[in-house]
Amino acid sequence: MLGRLGTKWDPFKTLIAAILSARARDEVTEVIAEQLFNKYPDCNSLANANPAAVKDIIHGIGFFNAKTKNIIAAAKMICNEFNGKVPANREQLMLIHGVGRKVANCVLVYSFGQDVIPVDIHVHRISNRLGWVKTKTPKQTEEKLLQLVPKTHWQLLNDTFVSHGKTICLPLSPKCSVCPVNKYCKRVDVIKSR
Ligand code: SF4
Repeated sequence: MLGRLGTKWDPFKTLIAAILSARARDEVTEVIAEQLFNKYPDCNSLANANPAAVKDIIHGIGFFNAKTKNIIAAAKMICNEFNGKVPANREQLMLIHGVGRKVANCVLVYSFGQDVIPVDIHVHRISNRLGWVKTKTPKQTEEKLLQLVPKTHWQLLNDTFVSHGKTICLPLSPKCSVCPVNKYCKRVDVIKSR
């Protein structure tokens, strides 16, 4: 999602888009993020934005009240405490309003090219279905994947699994019969149909 937003090389936009994307459909986030960045292209403009005007732009996205507060607060923090530069460091990123581990990892991969694995709902679901991990939380999945997957693939994993999760390995009705990796998958009903 973040790559297709065209924000890949802009840490500020990647960060804000990732905050907006929480519990929202990517298609909606992409359109709204573009509209937001047309009006507020950097941390200074968003830090000084009128919350009502921001809300007007992002109201089509889930949790828009909280996200309005978070993205303005995040912009202020970047301006005031990080000299206008998004930090390339997970611990510092996670000090920013609205930034959890997944958002921080997205920024590190998509803007700074660091070797980390952002684990969102797609990565968590598919990793479990494939049988690579047997975990209950994205954090546990991330820990297991870091042990299991060669480092050379870490940066590509999120983007690859998100694409697969939105087209083939859907949350409710995965299209296992046309899945290119079905012969490697450990999902119970895939195995039964072989
Ligand atoms: S076989 Fe089905 S469950 Fe397994 S990865 Fe493919 S789509 Fe997902």
